[in-house]
Amino acid sequence: MRAMAALLDLLLPPRCPGCGREGAPICADCARPLERRLDEPPGAPLGLPVELPEGLAQLEWCAAFTGSVRAALLALKYDGDRRVAEPLGRAAARRWRRAGMGGEVLVPVPVHAARLRERGYDQAELLAAAAARELGMPVVPALRRAEATAAQYRLGRASRAANVGHAFACRPEHRRAIRERHVVLVDDIVTTGATLSACAATLLASGARLVSGLTVARER
Ligand SMILES: [Zn+2]
Repeated sequence: MRAMAALLDLLLPPRCPGCGREGAPICADCARPLERRLDEPPGAPLGLPVELPEGLAQLEWCAAFTGSVRAALLALKYDGDRRVAEPLGRAAARRWRRAGMGGEVLVPVPVHAARLRERGYDQAELLAAAAARELGMPVVPALRRAEATAAQYRLGRASRAANVGHAFACRPEHRRAIRERHVVLVDDIVTTGATLSACAATLLASGARLVSGLTVARER
């Protein structure tokens, strides 16, 4: 039934989650904020905390989690609008190409199995696949969730870090693909960076040489 709904969805013309216009997964006007940071220097701009989340060599993102970018990410995450992943992932990749320090493999931050079943896809995986097409880098789904954690948005900032601690494990079949590599983690949004840190710790413990983070948006 869900497969049928998804198929019907793909037959309909895409509708921009930012303004509702039909025609493109995200229209040119609503995509503009994704390009705004393109020429900014790497790292955190003035007014944002400069410390990198622990374990990350670099962290880059395209846009603030507001306006049309927020609408597009919520549509991807909660409304089953998977087509919007392509422009969002490619925008993140362009930012990385401009400001990032290389990297050899892209690893998506995995969602929970339960949420994957409910939604039918993993949004970070779709974003990573789109970024990979732009960057010409392989995607390696090296991580899995090790245990259920409470939904992040229900928790305060302080308890988020504790909540994601030890929540990830490296898939043994992908260990070789990350060993001695510079891994670029891909996710939709970074807030505190605790999730990216937990992923980085797992990857570094599993043999990765360096771990960086790339997201579509940053939430202050
Ligand atoms: Zn629009």
